[in-house]
Amino acid sequence: MHQRTVPCQGYFAPQKIEEALEILFKYGKEIKVIAGGTDLLIQYCDRLYEVGSWLDLKNIEELKDIRINKNQMEIGAMVTHTQLEKSEDIKKYFPVLSQAAADIGSPQIRNRGTIGGNIVNASPAGDLLAPLMAYDAQFKLLSTQGEVIVPAEEFFIGPKKTILEPAQLLTGIILPLPSERTFGCWIKIGKRKALIIATITLALVVEMAEDNKTVKEVRTCLGSVAPTPIEIKEIREKMIGKKFSELDFNQLGQIVEDKISPIDDIRGTREYRKDVAKNIMINALEKIGSAWRSHK
Ligand SMILES: Cc1cc2nc3c(=O)[nH]c(=O)nc-3n(C[C@H](O)[C@H](O)[C@H](O)COP(=O)(O)OP(=O)(O)OC[C@H]3O[C@@H](n4cnc5c(N)ncnc54)[C@H](O)[C@@H]3O)c2cc1C
Repeated sequence: MHQRTVPCQGYFAPQKIEEALEILFKYGKEIKVIAGGTDLLIQYCDRLYEVGSWLDLKNIEELKDIRINKNQMEIGAMVTHTQLEKSEDIKKYFPVLSQAAADIGSPQIRNRGTIGGNIVNASPAGDLLAPLMAYDAQFKLLSTQGEVIVPAEEFFIGPKKTILEPAQLLTGIILPLPSERTFGCWIKIGKRKALIIATITLALVVEMAEDNKTVKEVRTCLGSVAPTPIEIKEIREKMIGKKFSELDFNQLGQIVEDKISPIDDIRGTREYRKDVAKNIMINALEKIGSAWRSHK
């Protein structure tokens, strides 16, 4: 058992975002933001850092909502994985995100862990990151200096590294509502079915054009294969403007395999991950194909 050497100086649990921002501005790097604590407290007990004070977001109700406004959805940073999994709106518009949330940890972890914590923790294996990129998410970063909105793909800069500054809070996630001709697939591969950190994840989202035959847009995003979640943009060139029924799934799977450069680690070798990436891409295309055919 580790003992903490630096006693905690203070604990703040404000009810308003503005108060939280003031506290963050005042304490800067001396304070640690805590959401569900499911990543943070483990890292704290492992003594990966020392904490002067805590800024707990648990009382800020504004951060716990899922709202639809015109053509976009905004998810508060304190929305839990259980909320994501159970929300009828998320199931309807963003099923890949809902399924990914349902695959996280255990019920206890899903009840406490938040979308904001998953994003800011920025683990290459964070389950929500590839789905968020696949749905073209943007993140709202707020400080006393004002608001900045950044696309998900610009937010992550390395394993556990983001562009978030010490005085900024992630307050919300903005997702454009997809058309009803949008189909998605989520695949998580791990060593067992539950309570497992992913060896590789794939979030594939395909939007059909108005003819409901031609691919209008596609995003192929993977987790656990690079220091950050990535999109395989080469897939766009091969799919957009093509008839879905004429796609060569094997070739598309091969592109995914060729374009990733994963490392060996305790969860899997580089070769294993490349091989699996190809197979799950083919599998995801097949699943999207059958959902599309039954929707026609
Ligand atoms: C047993 C176990 C199983 C797990 N299984 C999975 C899994 O299957 N898949 C998976 O992806 N993860 C898993 N996790 C990791 C973890 O549960 C998730 O990453 C979770 O989403 C983290 O959210 P949190 O609210 O607990 O974050 P916290 O631990 O509170 O915070 C994480 C980081 O984000 C920062 N932060 C949080 N919210 C904000 C905000 N709004 N603004 C600015 N900074 C913020 C904190 O300062 C900290 O650096 C597991 C963890 C455990 C302990």
